This record gives sequence, structure tokens and C-alpha cells, in this order.
Amino acid sequence: MARLVVVSNRVGPLKDTGRAGGLAVALVDALTETGGIWFGWSGDVSPEGTFSTLKKTRSKSVQMVQLDITQADYDGFYAGYANRTLWPVLHYRLDLADFNRRFEQTYRYVNERFAARLGPMLQSDDVIWVHDYHFLTFAADLRGMNVTNPLAFFLHIPFPAPEILAALPNAKLIIRAMLAYDLVGFQTERDADNFRRFAVEEAGATDLGDHQVRFGDRVIRVRAYPIGIDADAFSKLAMSPDAQKHIKRLEKLMAGRQQIIGVDRIDYSKGLPERFLAYERLLKDYPENRGRLSLMQIAPPSRAELDAYIEIRRELEELSGRVNGRYAELDWTPIRFLTRSFPRRALAGIYRASRIGLVTPLRDGMNLVAKEYVAAQRAEDPGMLVLSRFAGAAEQMKEAVIVNPHSAEEVAAGLQTAITMPLDERRDRWQLMFDRLCQNDAVSWSRSVMEDVKAIQR
Ligand code: UDP
Repeated sequence: MARLVVVSNRVGPLKDTGRAGGLAVALVDALTETGGIWFGWSGDVSPEGTFSTLKKTRSKSVQMVQLDITQADYDGFYAGYANRTLWPVLHYRLDLADFNRRFEQTYRYVNERFAARLGPMLQSDDVIWVHDYHFLTFAADLRGMNVTNPLAFFLHIPFPAPEILAALPNAKLIIRAMLAYDLVGFQTERDADNFRRFAVEEAGATDLGDHQVRFGDRVIRVRAYPIGIDADAFSKLAMSPDAQKHIKRLEKLMAGRQQIIGVDRIDYSKGLPERFLAYERLLKDYPENRGRLSLMQIAPPSRAELDAYIEIRRELEELSGRVNGRYAELDWTPIRFLTRSFPRRALAGIYRASRIGLVTPLRDGMNLVAKEYVAAQRAEDPGMLVLSRFAGAAEQMKEAVIVNPHSAEEVAAGLQTAITMPLDERRDRWQLMFDRLCQNDAVSWSRSVMEDVKAIQR
């Protein structure tokens, strides 16, 4: 069987520590099946950068190979183009994007350097699978080195409509570089359509139908492979002693009241201020919930060095303070805002103890929290998911209460629908979602990408 080479910005962990997301678990599974290499940034900055000695560790058939970058690479490639340019543009936020030529140059240079370091390690029948927005131009660099191996790419975040992407300077060049992959995979049909449209309307590709486009003399497969979680394992996690401990603590705190749970990194794509406003609206429009239904928002900080992220955290502290000041009672706090992270086994218990999962990103590639919330519920009395129509997960979770996160009124009404939903209906909707989650788990996701890339006629 051909060896697999996975390339992603961060590498590992190889062991399922309970903190690792479904992605790491699925990739480890795919890698151990065939043996292979997992190649990416070490997370370290050094003066030698991409010219430094490779850091190699091996666990059975999988070798992890990591590479440093320099401070200038970090500033231009990672903090710059990846986080300040591509992240906002791909999440439809042109207003937050920083278009800086130096960022783009460093990004392309770092992609080139990573390709130059990976090249000598490749064997002729390796299948290479590259992940996410840090490595859009990577395949073109490998092809420039005469690498002819099958090359697959998967974008974990959204891909915007061509009208948005066209604002990115050199978008055409970047998309043409992406067409050096043999397979380009997305989270949703919408993302795949957006890419196909840009490739055809702007970059000179031809749509061949059947999820394929032609560019020059090459045919590229473009389609959606929605990422899954290990639903069965997560559901068991929610019944583990550790999860039970959290359930007991929460139940004591709630004293017979009910809770809405939100779990998101602090990021402007997650729609957190809009969510707090929607909850305030619920207390205003449906006063019967006052004193009875609180909101717990777990929000670990991310990319804390970026101004946009500092601003959003301040805004959230202010908003929760205002709502709590206005509606709190002696023995009831409306919003509990926790700016820390929890291990997934604890989250499993917290989800299970919460009557409503509130997942309202303004844009999200998939959103695994939505899937985990559903997997963690009790079959006999499941909580209800209230889900943004702009989360990739909404394409597969139509039985959730689907809302427009920009409208506080609509989210408040959605919350009220979920809270008053009869048990029979909750059970029916939950069962459909849970069965679908089990059928489309993380392992079947990576298998279907691998099958498709291997099937490509070369
Ligand atoms: N997560 C976690 N601890 C936390 C908050 C989140 O382990 O305190 C995990 C969560 O269980 C999920 C992942 O982080 O698996 C978040 O994935 P999602 O797709 O929802 O959002 P992303 O952060 O990738 O945008």
C-alpha cells in the first residue's frame, strides 16, 4: 500500500490525549494504516528557520518531521498572511483583512521552503495530503521540483464566494497554484461550488461536471468531504467518570434550572457578541426564562496577540457585565463567561448537562462543537442544538433549530422553540442527527478523501 505523507501547519499529537480533536485522531488513523510521515512546523522560531535541522520523532510506522521558521517567517507567513489576510478573507471579513505585499511574499517563500525540505524525503509512490490555508501554494512548489505524486488538499475553513475572494490581491495566482493539486476538498458543497466558480470564472479552468475541472492538461477533483467526529467514542466520553464529575458539579450549581452552553475559541468568526445580545433579547422577549435559563459561554483565548481578538474579548466582558447587572438575582447569574479551556472529556459532561447547545458562528468551516454537543446527549432526553445557518455543520444537521446569527430576534425565537420543544420531537430530531454523525465519522472522512485521490487517473 502506498505510504501517506500528511502536511499541516501543526503536527500531532499522535496519541489521543482526550484533548486532541477529531482531525488529529482521523489523521493518525490514516497514517498508521499505511505508515507514513507527518510534516509541518515545529511551533518554534529560530535564527536558522527553515534551514534548521529537521526534528524527527517516530512512533511505530509514523514519523513526525518538524521544521522551525524564523521570526520574519512567523510575522509574515503565520501571524501575517495566514492569520491577518487569509483567515478574514476566507471567513468573508474583508473589513478585517490586512492586504500587505510582504505578508504574501513571505507566505509564498515559506511554502516554497517547506516543499524544498519535504521533497528529498518523498518516495515515488507516496500519496501526499496537505491541510488548510497555510499551504495553498505548496503543491505548485512541489510540482516545480518535478514531484508527480498524487497530491490532495483539504481546506478546513470556509471558501468564500468569488465576489469576495476577488478582493484578495493575486487571488488568481493563488487559485492557479491550488490547481496543481489533484484533489481539492472542502467542508461543504457551497465551499466547493465557490472554488469551482472562481477557478472557472476567474482563473481559466473548465468545468467538466462530475466534481471535476480541467486546468491546462490536468484534471482536478473538486468536492465536499464534510469532516466528522468519532461520535460513538464521544458519546461514551460523555458517560465517563470524569464527565460525570462535571455533570454533578453543574447540576448542583444549576439547582433545578436549565443551561444553554456555548463553546468557542474567542474569534470574530464565532459571532460571540451577537450571541450575548441574542440571549439578552430572549430574557427581554420571553421573560418567563428569567431566573430559569442561564448561558454558560466557555471561550478559550486564541491568537491573543492580534488587535481584533483583544477588542472582541473586551466587548464580551462588557456585554456580559451589562446583562448580568441588569438581570441577575441574588441566587441566579444569567451569563457565566469563562475565558479558559477545558479538556474534551470535561466538555462532554458539560454538553450533556446543558439543555441547549448554542452554536452561532457568523461563518465556520464545519464547527465540531455542534457535532460533539449532539453526540454527548442522553438518547432518552436529549438537549436541542440551536445552529447558525452559516456553520458548515448546518448542511448535515438540518434537524437542529437553524437560525440566522445576525438577527437577535431570530436567535431568541430559536432558543424559545428549542426550550419549549416537546420530548418526542427532541428525540426524533436527535436520533436522525446522531445516526448521521455515526455514519459519517472522522475515519470515513479521511478514507473517502484517500480513495478519491488514489482513483485519479494519472
Ligand atoms: N475544545 C476543547 N476545549 C475547549 C474548547 C474547545 O477541547 O475549552 C475543542 C472542542 O471540543 C472542538 C474544538 O476544540 O473539538 C473546536 O473545534 P471547532 O470546529 O468547533 O472550532 P475551531 O476552534 O476549529 O474553529
